[in-house]
Amino acid sequence: MSIAENIERLRAEIARAAEESGRHGSDIKLVAASKMNGSDAVRQAVAAGVDACGENRVQEMLQKLSEHAYDGAPLHFIGHLQKNKVKNVVGNVDLIESADSPELIGLISERAEKLGIVQDILIELNIGGEANKTGMALDLLPQALDTAAGSAGVRVRGLMTVPPVSDDSAKNRAYFAQMHDLFVDIGAKKYNNNIIMDFLSMGMSADYRDAILEGANMVRIGSAIFGARDYTK
Ligand SMILES: *Cc1c(COP(=O)(O)O)cnc(C)c1O
Repeated sequence: MSIAENIERLRAEIARAAEESGRHGSDIKLVAASKMNGSDAVRQAVAAGVDACGENRVQEMLQKLSEHAYDGAPLHFIGHLQKNKVKNVVGNVDLIESADSPELIGLISERAEKLGIVQDILIELNIGGEANKTGMALDLLPQALDTAAGSAGVRVRGLMTVPPVSDDSAKNRAYFAQMHDLFVDIGAKKYNNNIIMDFLSMGMSADYRDAILEGANMVRIGSAIFGARDYTK
């Protein structure tokens, strides 16, 4: 199957899940998670009409940026962002999906202000409370929102998560539902214009249907678009 065929099939599956949850396929943003795939593959995904590209690693992203791989699609940073790499990412991407500490939010804002821009971010939550997993602990969320509300260089556009790995659909759905509750609660609170709950980014190749059924409106798909990643290289 070609990348274009994979995307076409995914769009149909996404539309089915969206309709099952009272929405339309066009309500769901499809982000192509292109780590370990080269610029040619990324270009094929952009040509096939994905809504955005997502990269995990700063070096890899800068390489593909220099090759104009993402031209024609918005770019999201979706990997763990080290503090010393903030300067390489802010202003180079449309959305940082993986803002995972109040401190990082502050650093992103500082850098954005220096560039004279406002950087859109999502707050990444470690919804399963797993050790050794990226994402913010739930108890830091209020502090993160306060920091963002007071930081002129960032605008929070929603939440992101990678739930614990599990083949148990019921368990996945419980985490996704918990994320959706937080998304709705925060959206109902009166922060300021720095905090807008537009995007709930959750669901990957193995679990995007469950995520959409629980309210995701952004899914990040890698292997179901590009094929299995080759970790031996
Ligand atoms: C790799 C990755 C994805 C996509 O994973 P697949 O299982 O290949 O669809 C999504 N989100 C993040 C943060 C990733 O690192």
